[in-house]
Amino acid sequence: MKHQINIIGFGLAGATLAWQFHFKNIPFKIYDSGSNHCTRTAAGLVNPIVFKRLTKSWNIDLLLPEAFDFYTRIENTLKTKLISGKKILYPFTTKEDENNWSVKMGDDRFRNYLNHTNSAELNNIHAPNGVGLVNTFGNIDTNLFLDLSRQYFLSNGIEFFTEELRHENAAANADQKYIFCEGVAVTENPFFNYLPMKPAHGETLIIQTDGLELINILSKNLFLLPLGNNKYKVGATYNWELKKPILTEEGKNDLTERLKHLLQCNFEIISHQAGIRPAVADRRPLLGVHPEKKNLFIFNGLGTKGVLLAPYYAKHFADFLAEDKTLDAEVNITRFAKRYRKSLLDKKAL
Ligand SMILES: Cc1cc2nc3c(=O)[nH]c(=O)nc-3n(C[C@H](O)[C@H](O)[C@H](O)COP(=O)(O)OP(=O)(O)OC[C@H]3O[C@@H](n4cnc5c(N)ncnc54)[C@H](O)[C@@H]3O)c2cc1C
Repeated sequence: MKHQINIIGFGLAGATLAWQFHFKNIPFKIYDSGSNHCTRTAAGLVNPIVFKRLTKSWNIDLLLPEAFDFYTRIENTLKTKLISGKKILYPFTTKEDENNWSVKMGDDRFRNYLNHTNSAELNNIHAPNGVGLVNTFGNIDTNLFLDLSRQYFLSNGIEFFTEELRHENAAANADQKYIFCEGVAVTENPFFNYLPMKPAHGETLIIQTDGLELINILSKNLFLLPLGNNKYKVGATYNWELKKPILTEEGKNDLTERLKHLLQCNFEIISHQAGIRPAVADRRPLLGVHPEKKNLFIFNGLGTKGVLLAPYYAKHFADFLAEDKTLDAEVNITRFAKRYRKSLLDKKAL
């Protein structure tokens, strides 16, 4: 490529994109201010099922195999283990839930994903109406993924600046390409802040208990992810009012109450985390080039499902940038062109 590429932000979005460029032998530089690491709060779960409606998650048949292949390739490159391989256990609230689950299991479209279990690991978990089992590759250790990816890129001579990139510098440097993977900080980016972000603050806890024997992930009003040594990650809350990744008593109490409802054993809270999910009003990722400044790009909007979405869409983005392939209309920011024009008129009116 004739233009220098700069990736701005090294969370899940920036890191997966960096790998896709690396696989294509395209040189790039990375900037990361490390100010709001949503990726470091995430449990990294990959759930192909939307439990509320008992439907498949958007584009799952496309996204899941791509994500599995991507993380496997990274595991092989980094000689580490990132994929937990756990399944998701889903205790039914009523007998009717169990019946609906059984009906879906007979449907070809769900056959690969749904199952039943009477697993012995449910000791001390309130599950009087049976338990469903979801086939998935479980979760990714997102912290390890970021840390080892950074180390790998540094040792391969890739420039990694631990600093904030100033937006005006990017705009002034038309001979370089800048891809903004800023997570929720995009709301402060003057070139892309017209996009309809709906940031969702979320909190998680780490608890310790010797009353549970979970091996797989449990999902019921909250998730419980076994971390080993009797520790579990628990989450998550949703709050659309909080704009900073602060810890709240409300969040902690909410998770604690939900846990007490589900568990029949004592537990101790040993830590508490918060992050802000870069969610979009229409729940689709944000990919593309700025409507006027053709050296500025965005890869963002991974929302609540970054681990699943990032690999497929980072590849899609790299194909778009390096091979001039067309972006899917559903994720292309051109879908907000009207909004951009309105934002210009609003600025003029001021
Ligand atoms: C509580 C919680 C639980 C979650 N659980 C899951 C889960 O189980 N499964 C799942 O798939 N997803 C989950 N998510 C969502 C997932 O974390 C996100 O989809 C994903 O991490 C977003 O990654 P990102 O790279 O877009 O943003 P971030 O991780 O926020 O990274 C953005 C980076 O860009 C940097 N940056 C911003 N602006 C600049 C600038 N101008 N210059 C330099 N650097 C800059 C920031 O400092 C930051 O490091 C969860 C999120 C939360 C909050």
